Amino acid sequence: MNEIIYKILLATLVLSMNIIRGYYQKRYKSTHAVTTRVKQKSREKLLVWLMFFSLAIPGLIWLFTNWLSFGQFYLPGSIRILGFIIGVFAMWLFYTVHKTLGDNWSPTLEIRKEHKLIVSGVYKWTRHPMYTAMLFQMVSFSLITANWFYACTMFAGLAILLITRVPDEEKLMMEEFGEQYKDYMKQTKRLIPFIF
Ligand code: SAH
Repeated sequence: MNEIIYKILLATLVLSMNIIRGYYQKRYKSTHAVTTRVKQKSREKLLVWLMFFSLAIPGLIWLFTNWLSFGQFYLPGSIRILGFIIGVFAMWLFYTVHKTLGDNWSPTLEIRKEHKLIVSGVYKWTRHPMYTAMLFQMVSFSLITANWFYACTMFAGLAILLITRVPDEEKLMMEEFGEQYKDYMKQTKRLIPFIF
């Protein structure tokens, strides 16, 4: 199948991801004043930029130029289509997580006024379903593009995000919710249900 098909599939996923994030980002900005506590603000902002440079920029370059052609490798069409199906699941999860977190969501580590600990819905499966969704997104984008260079930049970005942010995020949740969060930790895994 022609590469253009894969470009359309990737663009569809990227666009839906941005529509979902855009909507919640707008909602977050309109309630920004209700943030009561922020952790590692400047590092957190850097991490948001890191995701931009590791996920968005190479993705756009792959879509609109052939500069990343050195990283192409062969994958059967069926596997690349499977990548799209994984991507649809990732988008659903990404949307559901935002909806479940509601006004407790923030792009950086924060405690919002009247912050509630969410342990239901997709938060029953893992403690960080948004990062799980991102992991699926990256698997999806890697298979659709069949480009090792893009796969490397995305996974390196995610690894840095997870290694630096998750321990601090869990510490923040523990400071705020104490025993309730400790109990929740005993019942759930971080990223992949029953495994890790
Ligand atoms: N790590 C989570 C959430 C990412 S959004 C996930 O992957 O789904 C980041 C914000 O969500 C943090 O500022 C934190 O305050 C908040 N948060 C994380 N887990 C939460 C939970 N279980 N309930 C409510 N808020 C949570």
